[in-house]
Amino acid sequence: MGKYGNKIREDKSVLTEPRCPFCREKFSPPREISTELGFFTGGICVCKAVYSYDPSGKNQGEAFMDALVYACGEDWDMALSLEPDTDYEQASISYDFHHHTIASGVRNRNPFSRYSDLIFIKINRQSPVSDNPGGD
Ligand SMILES: [Zn+2]
Repeated sequence: MGKYGNKIREDKSVLTEPRCPFCREKFSPPREISTELGFFTGGICVCKAVYSYDPSGKNQGEAFMDALVYACGEDWDMALSLEPDTDYEQASISYDFHHHTIASGVRNRNPFSRYSDLIFIKINRQSPVSDNPGGD
């Protein structure tokens, strides 16, 4: 059997793998995505979650709206009518753009940190009825 050291390193790399907070699949590095109004830096996961990267750490609201509107097919009326936690879910993870890794479980608010926020939005459009069959 191998040494403990190998195991520990493996576990650590798993923790920092860039995985979607919703489906746990690996996501691609954020890239420039064109929208009707301009562009944002982000991407789309295989589970249809949209993510938006905020390199400055100061425009979280903007990054959030970019992701939300894009997840709605750029339908602002729809985006603005959605209820958080009901119509969509959101998650924010600490992301290292240069190494394409995440800081799992770390809420790092240090302005000198190499991590910035990556905001994930997942629309729950496909679950208007059947989530709770037989529920009261
Ligand atoms: Zn996903």
